Amino acid sequence: MATIDHLGIAVKSLAEARSFYRRMGLEIVGEETVEHEGVRLAMVPLGESRIELLEALAADTPIGRFLAKRGEGLHHVALRVDDLNATVEKLKKAGTKFISDEIKVGAGGHLYVFVHPSSTGGVLLELCEDPPQGV
Ligand code: ZN
Repeated sequence: MATIDHLGIAVKSLAEARSFYRRMGLEIVGEETVEHEGVRLAMVPLGESRIELLEALAADTPIGRFLAKRGEGLHHVALRVDDLNATVEKLKKAGTKFISDEIKVGAGGHLYVFVHPSSTGGVLLELCEDPPQGV
């Protein structure tokens, strides 16, 4: 089974985006910098899923290049799966193209990997799995 974990939105300014969601009466949590992705992010919890706001740390980063090319907007959709390893293996056997071959550890210890838009109908798709309970 899979559910929508979050929608990743590229923004020029995290501060401006935060004030928009605040005005809507929504909470912004977990602001942090993820150096290896060149990004500063914040989460807007929405029931079982969330919006992930992404601000580039520099122009020469994935989000920086996205903003230069496409402007602000929806960057990726993230699906939470029960067994990320098994899902990735199954997709690889079927010839699915991934952005990187290995599964990475992200914010809060969750595991994630990106599927290339050429395999998903034009959407950058993040597959993620929650960290094991109690760790
Ligand atoms: Zn994400």
